[in-house]
Amino acid sequence: MAKKQFKTESKRLLDLMINSIYTNKEIFLRELISNASDALDKRHYLSLTDSKYASSSALSIYLDINKDERTISIEDNGIGMSKEDLENNLGTIAHSGSENFKTQLDESDEVDIIGQFGVGFYSAFMVAQKIVVETKQVDHDAYKWVSEGQDGYSISNSSKESVGTKITLYLREDSKDVKYSDYLDSFQIETLVKKYSDYIRYPIQMMVEKTIAKEDNQEEYETIKELKTLNSMVPLWRRNKKDISQEDYNNFYKTKFYDWEEPLKVIHYSLEGNLSYRALLFIPGKVPYDYYSKDFQPGLQLYSKGVFILDHGKELLPDYFGFVKGLVDTDDISLNISREILQQDSQLQTLKKSISKKIKSTLVDMLVKERKEYEKFFKNFGNSIKYGIYQDFGVNKDELKDLLLFYSSHEDKYVSLKEYCDRMKPDQKDIFYCAGSSIEQIKKQPQIEKLLDEGYEVLYFTEEIDEFSVMMMRDYEGHSFKSAQQADSIVETEEEKKEKEELEKANESLLANMATALSGKVEEVKISTRLKNNPVCLVAKEGISMEMEKYLAQLPTEQQAKANKVLEINPNHEIFKVLQKIYKKDSKKVADYADLLYQQALLIEGFSLEDPVAFSNKICELIKEAN
Ligand code: ADP
Repeated sequence: MAKKQFKTESKRLLDLMINSIYTNKEIFLRELISNASDALDKRHYLSLTDSKYASSSALSIYLDINKDERTISIEDNGIGMSKEDLENNLGTIAHSGSENFKTQLDESDEVDIIGQFGVGFYSAFMVAQKIVVETKQVDHDAYKWVSEGQDGYSISNSSKESVGTKITLYLREDSKDVKYSDYLDSFQIETLVKKYSDYIRYPIQMMVEKTIAKEDNQEEYETIKELKTLNSMVPLWRRNKKDISQEDYNNFYKTKFYDWEEPLKVIHYSLEGNLSYRALLFIPGKVPYDYYSKDFQPGLQLYSKGVFILDHGKELLPDYFGFVKGLVDTDDISLNISREILQQDSQLQTLKKSISKKIKSTLVDMLVKERKEYEKFFKNFGNSIKYGIYQDFGVNKDELKDLLLFYSSHEDKYVSLKEYCDRMKPDQKDIFYCAGSSIEQIKKQPQIEKLLDEGYEVLYFTEEIDEFSVMMMRDYEGHSFKSAQQADSIVETEEEKKEKEELEKANESLLANMATALSGKVEEVKISTRLKNNPVCLVAKEGISMEMEKYLAQLPTEQQAKANKVLEINPNHEIFKVLQKIYKKDSKKVADYADLLYQQALLIEGFSLEDPVAFSNKICELIKEAN
């Protein structure tokens, strides 16, 4: 029988398992039991619509220890595997859990991360020198998969008669560091099942020895064997909250949702009413590696009376809370439902609404009471909330607006819109923001200099979605959003305004000349009241902002949408005085300077120059003239 080789990535993981010095080797049992439980779920699910999958014996997991052979086996009467499944599932690195592990491995070669999350089937090689998998599916032949690790695996026919999978581990010899024979001790195994797999919905059974008084002579004792169910089978989410430790939740989350990091927040609650349900939800501690790819499957698991019905139920979560993982268990939804019907089910709509409400209230609560945690959450998933506001023409904006945080000039930290409005200056009506590529870059923007100087708070928008989402919101509690880079967002006193108008009149022809020189580039050249130390700045008129222009330019569409720009000049800056002088001497010369100032403003704004060579030549010309 020819040996087949493991696929490269699997090999790497395998090597790691085999050579693992990881002390927490015991998690292999949890992994194999959770696979068995999944297989039972799958069979149960198929049996709902097709009786050939029904099992004559109760769905269960059976553990068996053989001290002479040094084996421990884990057997289930679940879905089983076909020959292809064996090849695909055990020959190559499996999906979810192991795949996650692989990506993590690429980032760090720390052995420590093993066991912090589901590493799946391969973890068995931490304790076994040889693994035999015998398996059979309904209407299929039975097969046997054997592997001693690195040198590959082989698949052959098996005489297994019952449907399901039996995995036999041939334990390694004890070494001075590790006593593998501990796993041959039924008490040890029982303890491990209690520790990691207590909530598994199916009975996990094992023959255990028990000493009892003899029937005929109560003075004497005998040891008998009896089948014992080791787990309580009450799913974690059906247990009383006060009996569940944070560690229980964390362990459950990590194995069930294939994460190696602890969840940031656990939301466990039950609701009684027209539609009663329990939910156990988790906000991940970090962004899933595939979160922004199309492979990411949002949604919650759905259980009815503790029985698994559906994975990734997208119907149960709005898109903007797509990062939430977890499950919902309700007695009020009928079991025999197909996915199609599920989608229309009005009960599901009610569930979705109720779950969203709970998630939102939890987040609001976090924002108030656990600020640091909330900021961590928002850095990870804030963009989902912002997209939620923008999506569907803003129907959810009122629902989500209070979850927003923006980085603010006020004490250099994240603030909510409510906090911003609560401390607005008495004369302030608008919420000011400035958009740019980074906080550092925004801080240097000429347009916010005076605003900050006069004590106005400015929100720094560093994400592309930021402006789009506030544009969709229009205002927050009656306060409009105004970009500091917007032509009409000036805060000026009546005097300043009057002074500006006078200056514009007095310099009418200079400004007009500059505007002509910059025609096609800016719409107007104006005197500014928003500048302090900078000579010029660009602002945009209503419509597309400059940040949006940059964003749109990256899109692979032909359409080029540009902001209608205005070049503003600081009348108190020396440069302006110089311009006036030059204009008096030689009015034509002003065109060159106007262009230079415009291009400088573009650079400050983070645009690239259309013709950097011409720009630098022009500077050289001027330097030469200075001579
Ligand atoms: P994961 O559970 O993360 O997908 P594993 O390496 O643990 O990865 O398992 C790989 C795959 O092998 C599973 O997804 C499942 O399809 C299959 N499998 C493992 N154990 C069993 C079992 N007891 N019964 C049926 N299929 C199984």
